[in-house]
Formats: sequence, structure tokens, C-alpha cells
Amino acid sequence: MVDAYIGLGSNLADPLSQLAGALARLAALPRTHLVAQSPFYASRPVGPQDQPDFVNGAVHLQTELAPLELLDALQSIEQAHQRERIQRWGPRTLDLDLLIYGTQTINNDRLTVPHVELVNRDFVLQPLLDLSPNLQLPDGRRVADLRQQCVDNGLRRLHPVPGSLASSGGDD
Ligand code: ATP
Ligand code: MG
Ligand code: MG
Repeated sequence: MVDAYIGLGSNLADPLSQLAGALARLAALPRTHLVAQSPFYASRPVGPQDQPDFVNGAVHLQTELAPLELLDALQSIEQAHQRERIQRWGPRTLDLDLLIYGTQTINNDRLTVPHVELVNRDFVLQPLLDLSPNLQLPDGRRVADLRQQCVDNGLRRLHPVPGSLASSGGDD
């Protein structure tokens, strides 16, 4: 079993229910155990600004799926959520990124792990930190340190009220 971390994001078609659906599908993956899910956060979009805010979170999996098998599974879940790729970093119903796969560093046509933008994104680092305060990247950098160094884009932690985007108003 390998400890893997998946980033979830949505800013279309009721993001919280998109993420809830994604969690159910991740929990049902073969040869995989869903260990924990992070709180959800509202964040401003990366790239084009003329789109709704995102809801982001992360999950911790233990899996026997190989990295590319896991990517295939993530992409089929995106497909099941009618993910359409129209514009780079544009609005989407569901984005599932493989953030960390054990202590492996992967660079091939389909997969870069750890995720290449992870260190620059508060909406990725904060949920990872919530899940695993002592988590390290394969190169030894600590997620806690990266979170402190990362530009803060005003993440808002959301109360997990089904169907609601109400904000708790801070990092409580
Ligand atoms: P970003 O990568 O900046 O978060 P994005 O998530 O919107 O952007 P996508 O359109 O979801 O990008 O994915 C584009 C391609 O990225 C996919 O086809 C996939 O092969 C590749 N990719 C490379 N590394 C990863 C990874 N760690 N997790 C998910 N996809 C990856
Ligand atoms: Mg992404
Ligand atoms: Mg993606």
C-alpha cells in the first residue's frame, strides 16, 4: 500500500456536491482505502479571473494502484462529472490531481509527481497540512514550511454544510 494524496477542485455546477460525489467515487476505488478527507476551502481561481471561486480540498488514500492506474481512475471520475477542457485553467466541474504518491518522484508524458504547482498553491498545501501535519515531499521539504512560504490568496475554510457555501470566515 502506498500513501497517496489527491487534490480536489470545482467551481461549476454546485461545487460542494461535485466534491461530495468525487469523495464517494474515490472511496469506492478498487485496491484503495480512503484514509481521510480534509476540510474544504474557497479560493480564488488560478489563471482567468472571470470565473467563479473554487472549492478545494484533498484526500489521503492508501492504494495498491500504480501511479498511472490511479491517474486513469481520477480522469474517469472527472469524466463522470462531465469535466470539459475548454480553456486552460478555466472553470470546471471537477479537477482531481495526483499531488503526492508515496516517496516517488515521477516525470513522464502524463504525470508529474509531486504535482508541479503544489508548492505555489495555498489551496493545495493547506488541505495537505490538515491531513498530515508532518508530511514531506520526496526531496525532504516539509509541507508545513512550504505552506508558510507560499503566497496567501485568502483561503476561506468552509463549514461542511451540505449544499451550502457558507464560510466560517477564517482559519478556525
Ligand atoms: P494544473 O496541473 O495546473 O492544476 P489542471 O489540473 O487544470 O492544471 P488538467 O487539465 O486537469 O490540468 O490536466 C492536464 C494534464 O496534466 C492531464 O492530462 C495529465 O496527464 C497531466 N498531469 C501531469 N501531472 C499530473 C498530476 N500529478 N495529476 C493530474 N494530472 C497530471
Ligand atoms: Mg489542477
Ligand atoms: Mg488536473
